Amino acid sequence: MPMHSQVFSQIGEAAHALSSNRSSRYFGGGTLVMRQVNAGNQSFDTIIRSTDPSLKQVQISGDQVIIGASVTMSQVIASRDLDFLKSAASVIGGPAIRNMATVGGNLFARSPYGDFTTALLALEATVALSGGRSDVPIADFLTQRFREPKPLVISVSVPRPRDGNAFRFLKIMRVKPMGVSLMTIAAHLPQSGGRLANPRVAYGSMGDTPIRANAVERALEGKTLDAQGIAPALAVATEGITPRTDSIASEWYRREVAPAHLERLLLGTGG
Ligand SMILES: Cc1cc2nc3c(=O)[nH]c(=O)nc-3n(C[C@H](O)[C@H](O)[C@H](O)COP(=O)(O)OP(=O)(O)OC[C@H]3O[C@@H](n4cnc5c(N)ncnc54)[C@H](O)[C@@H]3O)c2cc1C
Repeated sequence: MPMHSQVFSQIGEAAHALSSNRSSRYFGGGTLVMRQVNAGNQSFDTIIRSTDPSLKQVQISGDQVIIGASVTMSQVIASRDLDFLKSAASVIGGPAIRNMATVGGNLFARSPYGDFTTALLALEATVALSGGRSDVPIADFLTQRFREPKPLVISVSVPRPRDGNAFRFLKIMRVKPMGVSLMTIAAHLPQSGGRLANPRVAYGSMGDTPIRANAVERALEGKTLDAQGIAPALAVATEGITPRTDSIASEWYRREVAPAHLERLLLGTGG
């Protein structure tokens, strides 16, 4: 099947073309889209891009950082304003992938991919979409991301953690470096008076999309970040979650190892 390419200088034009053609795909960095093209995927025949420079920008707005959808993982790693996200961006593929892979594209990556999105979920980022929807909570976005008509993601807005040490990220791989994720854990762990206040924990590769570990968050609330304080959270590490079975690991295995990796992340002993 011939593949058509449409390039627009304006975001609005690209968004219109994307939403009005069910046989189209947006092209971010193309690391997943081109793989589908090369594999002869017949579900789309048009690739749409926008060269609008605003898609590549990182902006500060109060305590939020606004990251354009076309910002690459390499750009994240190089940006001082995004230093808290460096740990997540640096484990996406190898250098060649990171030079192409975008923040917007990661939002659509299916498990076991989506490591960066797991970090954004723990930080309660919001997603700006074409059509004026500028503050869609990322958790809501993830439940609707493959719906038609397809929206164009313009940017994500992420609150910067006040304490750099409050954000933790761990990707567990069987093959290092550059392996796919067996489990990814991201946590935002603000404290007040030495106790956790509104902790947020997200898992990647444990379901079809990155998901919040709600039972873990409830168990951590008001606790101290030490072995005794986190024990109730470890006991409910996979409560309410049905881990996936794939070529990397079974549901059983993921359930077995989740508490140990969660402990490493919370106590800061995971390397
Ligand atoms: C060898 C290899 C290793 C990889 N390793 C990892 C890894 O370790 N961790 C990980 O998370 N991922 C990994 N990936 C997957 C992928 O590279 C990343 O998830 C990347 O962030 C996807 O971004 P992209 O810009 O390349 O997406 P693209 O391929 O351009 O697009 C992916 C999907 O998102 C849609 N899309 C992209 N941008 C937008 C937008 N702005 N608005 C609307 N829709 C959009 C596209 O239409 C498409 O459906 C790997 C891929 C490869 C090939």
